[in-house]
Amino acid sequence: MQIVRTLAETRAAVRALRAEKGSIGFVPTMGALHAGHRSLVQAARARCGAVAVSIFVNPTQFGPNEDFSRYPRTFAEDCEALREEEVDLLFAPEVATMYPADAVTVVRVEGLRDRLDGASRLGHFDGVATVVANLFQIVQPDAAFFGQKDAAQVAVLRRMVRDLHLPVEMAICPTVREADGLAMSSRNRYLSPEERRQALVLWRALQVAEALVKNGEQKAERLLEAMRSVFAALPDVRVDYLAVVDADTLLPVQDVRRGALLAAAAYVGTTRLIDNLLLPPEV
Ligand code: AMP
Repeated sequence: MQIVRTLAETRAAVRALRAEKGSIGFVPTMGALHAGHRSLVQAARARCGAVAVSIFVNPTQFGPNEDFSRYPRTFAEDCEALREEEVDLLFAPEVATMYPADAVTVVRVEGLRDRLDGASRLGHFDGVATVVANLFQIVQPDAAFFGQKDAAQVAVLRRMVRDLHLPVEMAICPTVREADGLAMSSRNRYLSPEERRQALVLWRALQVAEALVKNGEQKAERLLEAMRSVFAALPDVRVDYLAVVDADTLLPVQDVRRGALLAAAAYVGTTRLIDNLLLPPEV
C-alpha cells in the first residue's frame, strides 16, 4: 500500500494505478477504522481494479463545540487494517493541504444541508460536501463507496454529484452492526460500559417501528410515537431527532407506503449517535 500526503504525489499515484489496474474505487474516511469501513473497502475491491482510501479528520464538518480535537486518531492501526484489505493507495493529507489558508470556496447543497443532522449540526453538511468534492477532484475515482449508516450524508452527496455532474458512481453499502445490533461507529469508543448498554436504544426503537410496519402500520406519526416511547424508558438518553422522511429529500412523509427512511439521533452521555433503517416501498 502506497501512502501519499501531497496533491502532486497523489495525482501521480492515481495516474499510475489507473494505467495499471483500470478503474479506481474510493473510500473516504476519518480514520479510527472499524468493520463498517472495511466493508466499504471490500465493496470497492469487488467492483474496481484498484482501491484508494482517504483518512482525513475534516475540521470544517465539526461545529465549534464538537469533538474535532478529541476525535480518535489511530493511524498506525488503520494502516494495518488497510494493508490487510489490500488497499492500493492511502491518501492522508494535512489540513493545510486540503484547505490552503486562502481557500474560500464552499459547496452548499441547499435545502438538504438543513435537514436531519444538518438541523442540529449547523454547517456540518457544507463541510462534508466541500471536502468530498475536493477529495473527488484529487483522487478522481470512478466509483465512491459510502455507508448507509450516514443516511443524510448519502442524500446530500448524491445530490451534489448529480447537481455538479461529477463523473463518480455513488455506491451505498449497508450499515455494519455489532452482534447486538449497535451500528458500528468510530464514536462508540467514547461510550462507558453503561452508555454502551444504553446506546442500543437507537436500534431497538428503529426495530420496534419496523415491526409495526410489518404488521400493517403505515402512519408515520404512529411510528414516531412508538420510537419515542422506546426512548422514554431511558431518560438519560437525550433524543436529538426521530424522523420518518423521504430518503432522497429528507422531508417528512405522512405514511410509509412508498418507502421511507426511519432515522434517529441521540446523545448517550455526551456522545451523539445516529442510526437509521430504510423501509422498502409496499409491493
Ligand atoms: P467516517 O470515518 O465516520 O467519516 O465514515 C466513513 C465512511 O464509513 C462513511 O461513508 C460512513 O457512512 C461509513 N460508515 C461508518 N460507519 C459505518 C457502518 N457501521 N457501516 C457501514 N458504513 C459505515
